[in-house]
Amino acid sequence: IEQTFSIIKPNAMKKNAIGDIISMFEANGLKIAAAKVTILSKSKAEEFYAEHKERPFFGELVSFMTSGPVTIMCLQGENAVAKNREIMGATDPKKAAVGTVRAKFGDNVGENAVHGSDSTASAARELALFFEKHEIC
Ligand code: ATP
Ligand code: MG
Repeated sequence: IEQTFSIIKPNAMKKNAIGDIISMFEANGLKIAAAKVTILSKSKAEEFYAEHKERPFFGELVSFMTSGPVTIMCLQGENAVAKNREIMGATDPKKAAVGTVRAKFGDNVGENAVHGSDSTASAARELALFFEKHEIC
């Protein structure tokens, strides 16, 4: 069964939306196999987003992601990576389909409410960055 890595970002945390967002995952057949409310360190956020380090928004992205609590999760289910991306909607909330997490809780292309791994290889790397094997049920 496939696993993916998900983050509820600081702007969605401020909206008290953990329950609403997790309900959307569960309603679509994804199981929460690990979850933790935490605050990312600057070095962890930089490592997590390393692929974007040359992009103009990198500094802004790291400062946003460390600006408050996040919820980090392992989501599990059939086609979990693709299914999660579908539930999340497009990166830019203005372009996200009605009913998706980003359409509901995103504020702008940076503060877009959630992260989801973009492939099974990314999911494996990201899950290993945040969870010990035994923490994933
Ligand atoms: P994520 O990786 O967070 O799931 P994504 O795969 O849809 O999102 P990426 O292209 O990987 O989008 O960008 C990673 C994150 O960088 C985005 O989720 C967003 O927070 C931020 N970002 C992307 N493009 C921009 C931009 N043009 N301006 C500001 N922030 C951006
Ligand atoms: Mg991405």
